[in-house]
Amino acid sequence: MDTLNHPCADLGLELPSLLEWHHHPECQVDHIVIGKGPPGGSWQAMDGNVLTISLGSWMELPGIEFRAWEAAENAGVISYRDSRASVSSVARYYYDYVHKQSLARFFQSGCVVTSVRPLDTSRSQNTETIDPETGVQYSEPQALWQVEGFDLSDSIPFCYICRKVVLATGSTDVPNRLGIPGELANPTWVLHDLRSLEAAFDRLVDGEEGGREGVPTEPCCDPVLIVGAGLSAADAVIAARFRSLPILHVFRKTAALGTGSTQLPENMYPEYHKVHQMMGDGGASYPCYRALAEHTVLEISSDHKVRVIGPDNTVSVHRVSVVAILIGSRPDLNFLPPGLSLGVKPSEPVDCRSNPIAVDPYTHRVVKAPPGMYALGPLAGDNFVRFLQGGAVAITSHINKELRHYTVL
Ligand SMILES: Cc1cc2nc3c(=O)[nH]c(=O)nc-3n(C[C@H](O)[C@H](O)[C@H](O)COP(=O)(O)OP(=O)(O)OC[C@H]3O[C@@H](n4cnc5c(N)ncnc54)[C@H](O)[C@@H]3O)c2cc1C
Repeated sequence: MDTLNHPCADLGLELPSLLEWHHHPECQVDHIVIGKGPPGGSWQAMDGNVLTISLGSWMELPGIEFRAWEAAENAGVISYRDSRASVSSVARYYYDYVHKQSLARFFQSGCVVTSVRPLDTSRSQNTETIDPETGVQYSEPQALWQVEGFDLSDSIPFCYICRKVVLATGSTDVPNRLGIPGELANPTWVLHDLRSLEAAFDRLVDGEEGGREGVPTEPCCDPVLIVGAGLSAADAVIAARFRSLPILHVFRKTAALGTGSTQLPENMYPEYHKVHQMMGDGGASYPCYRALAEHTVLEISSDHKVRVIGPDNTVSVHRVSVVAILIGSRPDLNFLPPGLSLGVKPSEPVDCRSNPIAVDPYTHRVVKAPPGMYALGPLAGDNFVRFLQGGAVAITSHINKELRHYTVL
């Protein structure tokens, strides 16, 4: 479906969609969308200043063109460079979308789901009855799933009994950790997400010097330690550089492998290519940046010292101001019954990149769950927004077919 909706997107082209969307009110499925935060999911929790890696049109949903929406929102001023959207615009677009498309009544925001369980099979069966007048056999679907949780504002619990459950909880709830001593003991300056990191950087700049400008020749404070070689770590390097903070960048890969940025075209993603270049030359192109390729952090002590080991097993100690550990994240599926192994590799925990939930590609039904459970987005291995719509159409189409089947057998 993505091929029809965004033709040649993988070549970086932005061609008009070949799809037309029509509203079919008769196909509407009664539903409720439960989320910890406002509509927009993880986009509401990301650092709004960062540019997405996607073109604006790849982030849009049916019925409201992203570019037109953004131009109207910002009185003609658009935030994207070379068509890339800013995270803050995307977050506002999704929030607005839900309201403009009159979907807000389906959303139960500020609520956490704590348990999703299949009800016992005897209650899950369809009750088949024959209409005495027409002789038509009806199949009455019974509740299959029990979804429990509570409202974050007042802790009031809720419980739904439903036939279908769609898992769309994304991949960002549990940041990956190094699992080293001191990592969790210093939460004010050892951080695992970009948003709190930016706030820590601002505090550092305010505390140490006030707003400095330009490339410094003398470091203003101990370096910020950035751990990781992905795009989030690159974003942290960019954010620290923007504030002229000294940087110590530790990553396990060789400098030549660098960030995932090498797969991105340089003309569209110059900032990531700059970081890749800095990682490669170890800091020669930027005086306050030092790369420790093929290094691993061993320990973080509360006096702001970190022990790092290199490829030749040499251990070095560095004093740092802030530590940013940006090595990916994984979904939190603790609300599912224990023992339900949903991944493509059932013996391993679900991981959106290496072990997504196994789904039927035509219906997005979870293959290893009782009937009525679906998965969407990164959970099902679709890690970009533009792939989500195919999953959503597969699920709604299957639910509609099943509902029609239920009505008259
Ligand atoms: C740093 C970063 C940058 C990205 N950049 C891009 C990009 O440039 N382009 C692109 O296309 N994609 C990008 N993505 C991927 C994109 O964010 C996802 O594909 C998309 O957000 C997935 O949507 P989703 O609704 O499935 O999950 P999410 O957007 O992750 O939303 C899931 C929501 O469910 C909530 N939730 C989880 N558990 C529960 C629970 N028990 N109860 C209630 N709520 C719960 C979560 O808190 C979250 O708010 C990026 C992702 C990250 C992390």
